[in-house]
Amino acid sequence: MGKPTGFLEYERTLPQKDTVESRKQNYQEFVHSYSDDQLNNQAARCMNCGIPFCHSGCPLGNVIPEFNDAVYDGRWEEAYNILVSTNNFPEFTGRICPAPCEAACVLGINKSPVAIEEIEKHIIEIAFKNNFVKPNKNFIKTGKSVAVIGGGPAGLAAAAQLNKAGHDVVLYERDDKVGGLLRYGIPDFKLDKSIIDRRVAVMEQSGVVFRTNAEVGVNVPASELLAYDAVVLAGGSTIPRNLPIPGRELKGVHYAMEFLKQQNKRVGNSPIEVEEIHAAGKNVLVIGGGDTGSDCVGTSNRHGANSVTQFELMPQPPKDRTVAMPWPTYPMLLKTTTSHEEGCQRHWSVSTKAFLGDEKGHVRAALVVDLEWETDAFGRPTKFKEVEGSERELPCELVTLAMGFLHPQHEGLLQQLGVKLNERGNVDASETDYKASADKVFVAGDMRRGQSLVVWAISEGRECARKVDEFLMGYSELERKDKAV
Ligand code: FAD
Repeated sequence: MGKPTGFLEYERTLPQKDTVESRKQNYQEFVHSYSDDQLNNQAARCMNCGIPFCHSGCPLGNVIPEFNDAVYDGRWEEAYNILVSTNNFPEFTGRICPAPCEAACVLGINKSPVAIEEIEKHIIEIAFKNNFVKPNKNFIKTGKSVAVIGGGPAGLAAAAQLNKAGHDVVLYERDDKVGGLLRYGIPDFKLDKSIIDRRVAVMEQSGVVFRTNAEVGVNVPASELLAYDAVVLAGGSTIPRNLPIPGRELKGVHYAMEFLKQQNKRVGNSPIEVEEIHAAGKNVLVIGGGDTGSDCVGTSNRHGANSVTQFELMPQPPKDRTVAMPWPTYPMLLKTTTSHEEGCQRHWSVSTKAFLGDEKGHVRAALVVDLEWETDAFGRPTKFKEVEGSERELPCELVTLAMGFLHPQHEGLLQQLGVKLNERGNVDASETDYKASADKVFVAGDMRRGQSLVVWAISEGRECARKVDEFLMGYSELERKDKAV
């Protein structure tokens, strides 16, 4: 433990951010770094609890008190080694994780939790600056080959781990660049894409082969996979939930990902092959109150929208955290993101009944109504009814539908492999073996667990890689989550 009295002496502080006005002028990250003293003080707040709940709160099992201790003492290389023993990509989670570890921090019971996510980001940035992050080439080749399908965080983590185990790894990605939703979902102002490129370069130097513009099941036949000793499917959960109401077909009503992907391509100078969607000067309506919706808010403001309104069907969660709330109500809807700070009217308990068009077939307004929710004995919302007389028109010329994702795409790859799907439409495989129904095929990330988080995708990629390694070799020396450090 770095400083036994640290948690009594120092308050939680987060690094400064650019002002709202300046950050709306561009798509760059806007969170500054801690000074050396600030970082030292923040690490000193860790109480090194007998039972570190942060450790189990993290889906990766990050060994948090140990790296905080090393940070406090300035033992940077050690801090880095502890961190990457459980997490291949702290530069991603240190920027965009909702940090379940902080929600589990014991100090959080009566003070603000340790700023674990920021400390994690600082460790990895210092590691890159000091050249601690090196291509991993010190392994004996096994002569086995693995194809990984999908270059999101799950596929990247699986590829990195399998490569480390000595297998020949080829990663297929249908987009022009790898990263999955890190690249083409999450905006640059949350995660600059140079951060992904930097990691991909390290992986390439370590021996992972990347094949982009390669959609398995479409321009690469699934039969090509038969040549590999094992296959990891990590294609994500890509089919968005629709809102099939009158007027859905109007111009200007889009899925959130159509809007976000274009903007990320624009920033990354990748070609946009479809009609461009722009929010400049428009009244934007974002339907859906989670991370995707919030990213639409931040992007619309940067485009120069006239107004941005965000609707959520569920009621506003009570600030009192003892009231149980079903996912996705908590914590997504409780959270005020930096995008909300930049300007947005948020409304909860609102339903959209129709989109209304102008004479050119373009959306001009949404017909909306307030809802009244009934709750159960625990205060959880169960049933709603419309509030009489609350129906009204909300002017909007651009609508983004950000209501989550249903399951992976079934046509193409999954159909050609003939893998069994579960009742939710995800690839059927248990959390204990990640094994899909087809011979030598494994699955990880959102394609298996459904729409989730980056930290879960990395965790699934790592765990799945260990199962593949055991399948190929009869045993595995890759790290186990429950035996970290
Ligand atoms: P993905 O990231 O979806 O990657 C799957 C990849 O597979 C894609 O690149 C796809 O092109 C490729 N692919 C699919 N099929 C094929 C095929 N047949 N052949 C070749 N390639 C294929 N989580 C957080 O923790 N924090 C956040 O702030 C956050 N913000 C988000 C914002 C948005 C807009 C969205 C949509 C999600 C957000 N998430 C966030 C969730 C997070 O991004 C996902 O849970 C995570 O990326 C899932 O990782 P994955 O690797 O399983 O899938």
